[in-house]
Amino acid sequence: MIDTLTIKTTKTSHSRLAETDMSNLPFGQVFTDHMFVADYEDGEWKNFEILPYGPISMSPAISAIHYGQTIFEGMKAYKQQDGSVSIFRADKNLARFNKSATRLAMPIIPEEVFIQGLAALINTDKDWVPAKENYSLYIRPVMFATDPFLGVRPSSTYKFIVLTSPSAPYYSNPLKVKIEMKYTRSDEGGVGSTKTAGNYSRSMLPTLEAHQDGFDQLIWTDSKEHKYVEESGAANLMFVVNGKIITPEVRETILEGVTRDTVIEMAKSMGIEVEEKRVSIQEVLDNIDNGGLTEAFAVGTAATITQISEISYQGKNYVLTDPAARPVSTAIGKKLYDIRYGITADPFGWNLIV
Ligand SMILES: *Cc1c(COP(=O)(O)O)cnc(C)c1O
Repeated sequence: MIDTLTIKTTKTSHSRLAETDMSNLPFGQVFTDHMFVADYEDGEWKNFEILPYGPISMSPAISAIHYGQTIFEGMKAYKQQDGSVSIFRADKNLARFNKSATRLAMPIIPEEVFIQGLAALINTDKDWVPAKENYSLYIRPVMFATDPFLGVRPSSTYKFIVLTSPSAPYYSNPLKVKIEMKYTRSDEGGVGSTKTAGNYSRSMLPTLEAHQDGFDQLIWTDSKEHKYVEESGAANLMFVVNGKIITPEVRETILEGVTRDTVIEMAKSMGIEVEEKRVSIQEVLDNIDNGGLTEAFAVGTAATITQISEISYQGKNYVLTDPAARPVSTAIGKKLYDIRYGITADPFGWNLIV
């Protein structure tokens, strides 16, 4: 990587690393010592800085907090066996970030700002990348509108910040999920295929209600008929039916996950058949009943591969196969793990060593 970006670096005078328990890191609660910040003004990105992690001062009128003109990404960096650090598939996250930016009428981030900013930040805080099994450094880039103006129009100024958070996986146990028949996550013509704030704010009440009903998570269905399964929370959904992986095809109401793509590529390389199509609730339930469905799992950067143990539909609960005995997702997960942590070679070119 050739450095072409001039980044001003101000290091913290007191690292919090020594007082952090690196073997107990619930997802997304602990942040590293520094953050990367850039500003968009007068039609260009500028003021590239690495600063101590901490509060930033903003006008209470910024349009991001009133109208939600804000987007984010989620990716992970992994400690390699030789002590170096790899960012997993950062190019894919950049492409999706810029797709989200375009849909939200925001400026795109040039590759050099995104990748070099990220690399510089991770190098500054490389001692924060956990060495513990299954742990990683979660990376959260976010961009938001900063014009202090209450009119509704695209902002002319933006802030881009990258936060990093050493973390355990998002879920520690298999999930009991409910097929959601009342609320929807996204709809045609909307922003469901982008990582923008509104998709998550609208999911909070439905998810809260699912928790109150005793479920860990819900499965979103299509907004028109509630006949097809789309995603599970903020992760994509996969099933193994008669030895074949079946997953909802990408459409504008579904977030196209990098993990989804990774699992599909890995499965195909292992000779496992993958079918991307509309998946009806009926098909899922029928295949549970007739024994064809042997695995169900959610895939995402935060979730990695999280097994689904039970699916509830309109008050009826379906108990799936033992999550500990699922050969297809277990084999894929193991191969992915070995590539991510540099245990085996990376024939796909997924690791960006920084
Ligand atoms: C982030 C996200 C995913 C998973 O995407 P990855 O790139 O695999 O992390 C799936 N669905 C939604 C709604 C998401 O926000």
